[in-house]
Amino acid sequence: MCGIIGYCGKKHLTDVLLTGLKRLEYRGYDSAGICLGNSNSLTIYKKEGKIRDLTAIVPREATGSWGMGHTRWATHGGVTDVNAHPHTDCSGKIAICHNGIIENYSRLKEKLGSEGHSFHTETDSEVIAHLIESMYSGDLEKAVKDSVPLLQGTFGLLVMHADHPCEIIGARNGSPLVLGIGENEMFLASDVSAMMSHTKQVVYCEDGEVVKLSALDYQVSDLRNRPIDKEVSRISWELEELEKGKFSHFMIKEIFEQVQSIPRAMNGRVDENQATARLGGLNMTERELLGIKRVVIIAAGTSFYAGQTAAWLLESLARIPAVTELASELRYRNPLVEEGTLYFAVSQSGETLDTLMAVRELQSKGARVLGICNVVGSTIARESDGGVYIHSGPEIAVASTKAFTSQLTALYLFILKMARMRHMAWLQGQTFIEGLLSVPRCLESILARAGELQALAKKYHQAESFLFLGRGINYPVALEGALKLKEIAYIHAEGCSAAEIKHGPIALINQNTPSMFLVPEDHLRSKLISNMKEIKARGGPVIALCMEGDRETAEIADDVFYVPKISEEFSPFVMVVPLQLFAYYCALELERNVDQPRNLAKSVTVE
Ligand code: GLU
Repeated sequence: MCGIIGYCGKKHLTDVLLTGLKRLEYRGYDSAGICLGNSNSLTIYKKEGKIRDLTAIVPREATGSWGMGHTRWATHGGVTDVNAHPHTDCSGKIAICHNGIIENYSRLKEKLGSEGHSFHTETDSEVIAHLIESMYSGDLEKAVKDSVPLLQGTFGLLVMHADHPCEIIGARNGSPLVLGIGENEMFLASDVSAMMSHTKQVVYCEDGEVVKLSALDYQVSDLRNRPIDKEVSRISWELEELEKGKFSHFMIKEIFEQVQSIPRAMNGRVDENQATARLGGLNMTERELLGIKRVVIIAAGTSFYAGQTAAWLLESLARIPAVTELASELRYRNPLVEEGTLYFAVSQSGETLDTLMAVRELQSKGARVLGICNVVGSTIARESDGGVYIHSGPEIAVASTKAFTSQLTALYLFILKMARMRHMAWLQGQTFIEGLLSVPRCLESILARAGELQALAKKYHQAESFLFLGRGINYPVALEGALKLKEIAYIHAEGCSAAEIKHGPIALINQNTPSMFLVPEDHLRSKLISNMKEIKARGGPVIALCMEGDRETAEIADDVFYVPKISEEFSPFVMVVPLQLFAYYCALELERNVDQPRNLAKSVTVE
């Protein structure tokens, strides 16, 4: 969601800022702007629309010696040129770029207005520039430090002042900020991808820290001016991972990558001798793990569905009560934290604000929270008490695909470990490992037949509405399938338990509302077959994902896609990939912006 980049150095400023913003495009945004600093003056260009629209209004010769850029995902105020960031104070000397939401902005605006400040935009962010102006008396860093405690809400913030050449001040609260150390150049960005082509040496900033940046140096300190010694980390991703390569979209690239990303999530974590998993990052002893009586998985969106799938399996295989809760709801529910409950926070970016806030709420009540994150060094990964990185590599498409299956893989390894410590015998453990190791092969065979799903998309993409129906472990997968179709094809889709249709959704069925059934070979298959017949009896088209050789399902459904035979616990993997492909091809047919669907953002850093 929204992005920031700041730069002090000798390279061509406009190029660094615009290409940096381009790398942040995947996060989702609706307008963009840059601020160029030239000895004692700031020049701002900002534009509603895409980076190319901004580039078009920036004169070729425009450059400077320090500057910053922003992609905005509007929260307060319409999507207009004026509301795009950077924003300035009354004098035009102070400029700010802000990610997040200032919750007390109206009170601040009223107060600053009464003191004579005049505002030009509808945004919450503009108050920051005026607040800093009101605090400024020659020292920009001090003015920022005096302002930050008065801001309520979330922010990743960059500030420049015309009279402080080659100086950028950064601050954060709940929204990511990463410092990049180059040779005679420095970066401050919301996401490492904005600076990865220049440097891989980074410092992750924490809430309450303020960074002072110049081309040759940086200082990190807290709000009371105490210097903080920060650890420098190295980004392990390669630049090529941020490119589409031979694929036409990041989403399809990432769907195909699952054959490699799932093994990466398992790498070094499978103990075949003991038929269990090795998960050192959990930071828990075997004895502590044995004491776990309940597991609660907190997440949002696609990660929530990965959590629901895993909770089902954890209960079934390890016999530990497990539930999944929406982070946004849990946080404000005043949750009961009990001894013996282990929490998992699942977030691809590790920056999802709802999830992060839930983590903090739980930790303040004494809970142990483990993270399942993709982005190394992200806030949730750092603040949780341990966890498992899924190592998917950067996921650029807004609609999550490979992160889902890698989250499942990481959680499955945890389930294996917990099950082996309880009721699962060595031999069953071996069978489980074999099953998990066979998943990438099964996905290969599905991907080789992607054309069949493209044909289905051609046939069905004009439907106004879809039902996605599954049972048991595949019920959350049906929800994920519906979410994918909504996200990228903008087709209304409802996911539900096939058992629930008779309690309401079946009223939607007609010739224009197809139902996508997930039919693995499990003990609920016969129930699903009855549900399919109920839909057919009411004239609804039925598409079924079923196991190879399932003639009975093929005879009822209008169309089938066969998935390789695999046991029930691994069926979510072979069910979800065709659903990802189906959504992708529907979006192509409808000429949607697949990688950056409308209104959506990648890492959701606002509430
Ligand atoms: N709340 C600010 C605005 O609407 C910042 C949004 C963002 O994070 O991009 O301008």
